[in-house]
Amino acid sequence: MSNLLPLQKGIIYGPVNSKRLGRSLGINLFPDTKKICSFDCAYCQYGRTSDKTSKPNRADLPKVDEVINAVEQVLKSSVEFDYITFSGNGEPMVHPDFPEIVRKISELRDKYRHDVPLTLLSNSSCLASDVDIDTLSLIENRIFKLDCADQKSFMIMNDASSDLKIADIIAGLEKLSAVLPITIQTVFVDGIIQNYQGEIFDQWLKAIKRIKPQKIQVYSTDRPVAVAGIKMISNEELHRLANLIQEQTGIPTRAYEAQKKR
Ligand code: SF4
Repeated sequence: MSNLLPLQKGIIYGPVNSKRLGRSLGINLFPDTKKICSFDCAYCQYGRTSDKTSKPNRADLPKVDEVINAVEQVLKSSVEFDYITFSGNGEPMVHPDFPEIVRKISELRDKYRHDVPLTLLSNSSCLASDVDIDTLSLIENRIFKLDCADQKSFMIMNDASSDLKIADIIAGLEKLSAVLPITIQTVFVDGIIQNYQGEIFDQWLKAIKRIKPQKIQVYSTDRPVAVAGIKMISNEELHRLANLIQEQTGIPTRAYEAQKKR
């Protein structure tokens, strides 16, 4: 599909202006030639995942020293930003050295920018097998994806690598949330698959009640998508959902409106 967003170039990108995070300095732990992710979401702004895996080949990825050097350079510079965000061309937590990278960047942050929080945007997949509380406690702002709660919808919506079960991911989110505050982010879509009404939505809501996140962020897609036939829901519908979710769960829920209509 044309008009997809290009992959981020290099280890450091931005600061980008983010609806949720203000000026966000991005850290990309992947090459700029292909997306490496454990999911292949139908709405992904970068298009289809070329390497769908939870265990990427280390040779394809930047080394710890390369990441740390790039981050130190920008932290020492005069560039201003509000958050340092692990995101980029794939799922940050699948990088096999993610714990070491987080620990070293946390130390650099304390040294050069002690008031700038670390943020993680994760698809939650790694929580299915391991909930690394020590590493995640070094990140102040933990944002995890959950778009649906049943395996069939999960495979259509997120088209995850075959070793992943949404029930295990939900159990991991529940375990983490019992120890550290987390935010759940959910993309609601319509079209060839929808997740904002009926049984799919009811199951998602049930999972949220189990996980008990501190906050919920809901949005739709106003960017190009990987799969034709995926449509955004309206801003009015998004606000209706946010109010309903907050009413049903008691958890603060914020709707992030689309900037433009597709
Ligand atoms: S988890 Fe994120 S990067 Fe991976 S396919 Fe989904 S939207 Fe794209």
